[in-house]
Amino acid sequence: MEERFYSRLGRALKPGVIARVVLAAFERARRGEKLISLTGGSYDPMSLPVKEVEEVLRDIPPEDWRGILQYGSNLGSGRLRAELAKFSGEAGIEADPEGEIIVTTGSQQALDLISRVFLDPGDMVIVGSPTYLQALASFRLYGADVEAVPLDDDGMRIDALEEKLGELSAGGRRVKLLYTVPSYQNPTATVMPEHRRRRLVELAEEYDFLIVEDNPYGYISFEGPMPKPIKAYDDVGRVIYLSTFSKIVSPGLRIGWAIGRRGFIEKMALAKMNADICSDGLSQYVAAELLRRGHVHRLIERVRRVYREKRDLMLESMELHFPEEAEWREPRGGLFLWVEMPEGFDADALLDEALKRGVAYIPGSNFYTDPNVRNYLRLNYSYPSMEEIAEGIRILGDLLREALKS
Ligand SMILES: *Cc1c(COP(=O)(O)O)cnc(C)c1O
Repeated sequence: MEERFYSRLGRALKPGVIARVVLAAFERARRGEKLISLTGGSYDPMSLPVKEVEEVLRDIPPEDWRGILQYGSNLGSGRLRAELAKFSGEAGIEADPEGEIIVTTGSQQALDLISRVFLDPGDMVIVGSPTYLQALASFRLYGADVEAVPLDDDGMRIDALEEKLGELSAGGRRVKLLYTVPSYQNPTATVMPEHRRRRLVELAEEYDFLIVEDNPYGYISFEGPMPKPIKAYDDVGRVIYLSTFSKIVSPGLRIGWAIGRRGFIEKMALAKMNADICSDGLSQYVAAELLRRGHVHRLIERVRRVYREKRDLMLESMELHFPEEAEWREPRGGLFLWVEMPEGFDADALLDEALKRGVAYIPGSNFYTDPNVRNYLRLNYSYPSMEEIAEGIRILGDLLREALKS
């Protein structure tokens, strides 16, 4: 009976595989069974900044509470924008906090606002293949025509991109947006080298499109500093840069931000007005204080250390338990390990059995525009404990071996 009330957009909203796996986990927990989740990109529970946030909350003076509890700017609190401008400056990005930065409810809201502001149904968006599933979902929800460009070990293949751009433009089609996660990409953990980043900006200029650079993982670098963002090479204002506290501070605070040219940010602020008027005052206050007190830098150091250890354990366990046919590369940052199984292997079909045995992963097909690519798995090492990583990989290893034999 409900169906006939929904809009085109409402009908297009469907639960994805993450929702399904999360539901399965709840089911199991209710029955008292356990499920080792190697699925989403959740924060290490023991590293969450509980003490730091408690301390900030305790110190709030009464006059600040009045600001927190009032409506705020749709661009975000001035205090937080100033801190974010400084923080992004350290990454090589120049931004005027008055007009070139907007605070969003996580990066996901920035993706939604960008879709609303820039995309008409049928507009063309280029993404890497594979790419982040929630970005794909957002572009598609607004009717975009998504074209995929394959990745190699250095991220999006620029030769393939140039070929695609040439073909499209010869066919009279214009590309509106290119979406990329250049540093420790989700799901593959690849990093785009500097020459590709520079070339991307040149191509945007040549073919007249915008680049959406999504950078949640750049800070979680296991070797040396964060790779310089594409935005740092953008002197023509074609890059809209997104980052977030979700992977470095806390996903529950829902603090993300976008940096771009004034007109674009203004337009996104108007869309934000329509979506939620302004971001949460308390979260923004806490975020600004965590930055000002230097906690964010310390948290980044902490998760780098913790995630590196977890990555190492996952790699060791995989060496021990995974079949010879499985292939992977050591991630140099980020939260994920990307596993390639032989052609013909079906990671989607195997998920139910994995859940029964108490371990969950994300089948790689969810990161492709072509759902028939089924021989990859994405494994997360930030959320599970060390014990769970060792046990989860052992269970999964047995399962992969059995599946290969049958
Ligand atoms: C985790 C992640 C985000 C973060 O989304 P939030 O809304 O900030 O929690 C954004 N982009 C990518 C590619 C991610 O993996």
